[in-house]
Amino acid sequence: MTDSYFHEGDLVGVLTTQPLDRLLDYKAPEGGCHLGAFVEVPLGPRKVLGVVWGKGKGDYDLAKIRSVIRVLDVAPMREEMRSFLIRAAEYTLTPMPAMLRLGTRAPGLGDAPSMRKVYRLGDTVPDRMTGAREKVLGVLRDYGGLSFTLRELAEMADVGTSVVKGLVKLGAVSEEEAPRDTPYPQLDPDYGGKELSADQAIGAEALRAALRSDGYGTTLLKGVTGSGKTEVYLEAVAECLRMGRQALVLLPEIALSGEFINRVEARFGMKPAEWHSGVTMTERRRCWRMVGQGDAQLVVGARSALFLPYQNLGLIVVDEEHDTSYKQEDGVLYNARDMAVLRAAINGAQVVLASATPSLESWANVEAGKYQRLELTSRFGAAVMPKMDAIDMRVEDLPGGQWVSPTLRGAIQQRLEKGEQSLIFLNRRGYAPITLCRACGHQIGCEHCDARMVEHRFLKRLMCHQCGETKPMPTVCPSCEAEDRLSAVGPGVERMGEEVAELFPDARIAVLSSDLYGSARAMKAHIEEIAQGGTDIIIGTQLVAKGHNFPLLTLVGVIDADLGLQGSDLRAAERTFQLMRQVAGRAGRAETPGEALLQTYQPEHAVIRAILAGDEESFWKAEAEERKAAGVPPYGRMAGIILSSPNVQEVFDLGSEMARMDGPLRAIGAQVFGPAPAPIARVRGKHRVRLLVKAEKSAPLQQALAKWAGQFRLPTNLRMAIDIDPQSFY
Ligand code: ADP
Ligand code: ZN
Repeated sequence: MTDSYFHEGDLVGVLTTQPLDRLLDYKAPEGGCHLGAFVEVPLGPRKVLGVVWGKGKGDYDLAKIRSVIRVLDVAPMREEMRSFLIRAAEYTLTPMPAMLRLGTRAPGLGDAPSMRKVYRLGDTVPDRMTGAREKVLGVLRDYGGLSFTLRELAEMADVGTSVVKGLVKLGAVSEEEAPRDTPYPQLDPDYGGKELSADQAIGAEALRAALRSDGYGTTLLKGVTGSGKTEVYLEAVAECLRMGRQALVLLPEIALSGEFINRVEARFGMKPAEWHSGVTMTERRRCWRMVGQGDAQLVVGARSALFLPYQNLGLIVVDEEHDTSYKQEDGVLYNARDMAVLRAAINGAQVVLASATPSLESWANVEAGKYQRLELTSRFGAAVMPKMDAIDMRVEDLPGGQWVSPTLRGAIQQRLEKGEQSLIFLNRRGYAPITLCRACGHQIGCEHCDARMVEHRFLKRLMCHQCGETKPMPTVCPSCEAEDRLSAVGPGVERMGEEVAELFPDARIAVLSSDLYGSARAMKAHIEEIAQGGTDIIIGTQLVAKGHNFPLLTLVGVIDADLGLQGSDLRAAERTFQLMRQVAGRAGRAETPGEALLQTYQPEHAVIRAILAGDEESFWKAEAEERKAAGVPPYGRMAGIILSSPNVQEVFDLGSEMARMDGPLRAIGAQVFGPAPAPIARVRGKHRVRLLVKAEKSAPLQQALAKWAGQFRLPTNLRMAIDIDPQSFY
């Protein structure tokens, strides 16, 4: 390529991370620069980060054009990464600088490589040997030649750091400066593979063959929890590593990554690189740089790991592909599952979407022949999907203020007698969703949002689940000032804990909810203890639906199976179906078969019936027919427009004007609905109005939206967010 190198003084166009709508011209620095180079450029009085994006336009006074300050010591952005950012920006209608920020989310990228002290075996032998000294030298000898940080070495030898320092003084251990950003250890694809079942072997071979094709492809890997999907896609990772390409495994929940990292280590002998919000800043920087220079073979991460500068990405696994947390809901609104497919298509890489309960989107792509489908039908080992039944709450005899029906109580009692575990599932954090004044009827709400405050008795506070605002539990009603008349209405998991403790005073009970833990580590430790049998009855939110193993669990009781069906969300049925099946899938993972009981007031509801029958294909077919008829995703296209401002008049005025001036949308046959106050009409003191745009699947929606939205001038404090393929409608 002739255009890929610029000599000193050549004009280059630089994309910066600053919110500007154009590239800026600079002169290439001394020594020149490559296309894609990460650079530091002057902007006014500041220095900002940018990427050399192409030739300069030269439409600016040449005398005023400044020089690039310096080229950063990191691998230049590759052509495919540039294409990916451009296409992702077009798809999500995001300005390029915001995309570049996503692609450079590692602090200190521009800093000179920082150094740290490392320790390795020295040449002398100490005159006086002690047990502690012997341990340190033993570790260094075992790892011949390798060096460690002070803390690593002390930990591995199980001695205090002073022992190591003492050895340094004696010359038995040498201390050196080494760059902090070191390559990740090599993974061995043949280290610890398991012997696969017949099903698994077929799946693994299909994925290996797809990888060897060296082209793009997506495979839906379906199988109930525990069917051995992870084991199968780790075989695909192994093949990818053998081919010398990089692999990425996306997980929805960082709380789960610890368990997963251990599995990777058991499979490949070493730990992979990690990328998520729980990783330190220095480690993030190391990850970004090493991925860019090909010194990290496998990354395990959250959705933003898609925007790392892979050198040769061959495989992306999206585990639990149906999980709603793959959709980023603020800043750049993207769905990591869809962006994974885009990135792979550009890179000639393979995608594996793993799930027990795939999204209708993926199901439809299989039907349309766009994705390959692999299915693991039996569970690994003996257990099968639990027996499922409804408990008809209309006929259960249950006093007010209690939620465990006599039938469910009896089933739990049986488990207690047999020494097995039960899980009570309620997808509601806190003690009670409503705090009501019995004197005046006032319900305590959030001051900044149109949402009720939820009582968290454990924290002794009320909390808004929209904005996170908390306040102490009042003793008098904020409205009528009556004393001691506030009462909790409805159940949350904490309240279920109380009820269950009263019903089963001798049982060991644990409430699992993300807000009850100070750290992900504390939560993990507790889950581990529960799995070992430390608890008889587990009470949990959605947290327990996600991949934790409880081998002694044989009963799942769902307190309110109707909960998810009430929303106006087009995916309400799909989500309830998935969640109920996942929760039910927690029961009977080892040798003992499980049972799932769903408390419901509408046992004849189509979704509840499909869950009970375990008849996935007919559920998906019926759901697909309904969505086709309604022209909604995945059979039609949708975009949400959210206008928000402290000024309520302005959001409605602009909303109405947008609905009126819908020419560009009508031109492609799209329709606009609204403006309507968003279901939560006020969040953090901002009023929110929504419009919804619907179009046919083949319509060029993004172009029309850009043209349409571009017609309006936004008042200073008003923010417009365009959400392509919205997942949430709040
Ligand atoms: P999934 O990802 O479908 O939930 P996993 O791959 O986690 O299933 O498998 C469930 C359990 O069975 C895990 O503990 C895993 O280690 C074990 N397992 C899966 N496949 C095998 C195998 N071929 N040999 C031995 N154990 C296996
Ligand atoms: Zn709030």
